[in-house]
Amino acid sequence: MAEVLVYVDHVDGAVRKPTLELLTLARRIGEPVAVALGNGAADTAAALAEHGAVKVLTADAPEFTDYLVVPKVDALQAAYDAVSPAAVLLPSSAEAKEIAARLALRIGSGIITDAVDLEAGDEGPVATQSAFAASYTTKSRVSKGTPVITVKPNSAAVEAAPAAGAVEALTVSFSDKATGTKVLSRTPRESTGRPELTEAAIVVSGGRGVNGAENFAVIEALADSLGAAVGASRAAVDAGWYPHSSQVGQTGKSVSPQLYIASGISGAIQHRAGMQTSKTIVAINKDAEAPIFELVDYGVVGDLFAVVPQLTDEVTSRK
Ligand code: FAD
Repeated sequence: MAEVLVYVDHVDGAVRKPTLELLTLARRIGEPVAVALGNGAADTAAALAEHGAVKVLTADAPEFTDYLVVPKVDALQAAYDAVSPAAVLLPSSAEAKEIAARLALRIGSGIITDAVDLEAGDEGPVATQSAFAASYTTKSRVSKGTPVITVKPNSAAVEAAPAAGAVEALTVSFSDKATGTKVLSRTPRESTGRPELTEAAIVVSGGRGVNGAENFAVIEALADSLGAAVGASRAAVDAGWYPHSSQVGQTGKSVSPQLYIASGISGAIQHRAGMQTSKTIVAINKDAEAPIFELVDYGVVGDLFAVVPQLTDEVTSRK
């Protein structure tokens, strides 16, 4: 069976969920060979094997942290040369998309970004992308070279599929461009203690109806009672009430949690594009005609400042 390279997104050896989703998709088109780079790379092996990686290629070197993406491209190309895979899959993070584009250029292949599904095809993997705020889906395949495909988080369910996961050290010789741009400092984002938005099982989002940065405390209180991440509509982000990193939608993040609670959000098509695949959708809106109600499993017509605190109290009282 053909091998499929999977680029591993991890933090000091802790594999992030989008990579486990990639392994699910990779198994549809071949045998996943994972490539883990940087600090803690070898520590990723157990989780990757648990989810179907037949082999884990690892490399660690100061270049991966001291410079921007080129050293990682060099390493992924070394893995590509060693394996001759049927496809290369990466998560659709900003960094991984840059790595994907550079790799595709180097190996003379076509690239598909932001796929939401992947299947085997007679002439190579077929990727589904979602277009025009998820009003259309397109299916495409790379017609030149080995397909390089980035996949959006939450596009597939994580499935355990124990495999050998044999760990092998990857030999990388860095190109002269590898040290072209040095990282001078890194400032970690202040932790909120909440789960990462794209990986959370529950997301509570606020929109223009929240009516002010200080009022987001109401949304955060509900999120914290549920162990959820906090999201925001673009209107709330543009107003400066919540950071852009929390924006859900076409120009924000795509989420697909078990439960999505939209408060004071009208349900514009660009917002839906980022949340409509959520398993259960609840909306709280004082306008019974708001388009979000066309989409929901449960809707509450009411003032969020009355409804949300009651919900928070109810959840808290049941703990
Ligand atoms: P509004 O549409 O103003 O809705 C506010 C809602 O709150 C109303 O339904 C109102 O009834 C309700 N409300 C008010 N007060 C209360 C209260 N006290 N209690 C309960 N309900 C109340 N939007 C995104 O969200 N994400 C994107 O990524 C995104 N990308 C875009 C990209 C492009 C190219 C464009 C053109 C637009 C994009 N937008 C995006 C913007 C989008 O079109 C909408 O303008 C935006 O989603 C509206 O945000 P909202 O629902 O919070 O605000």
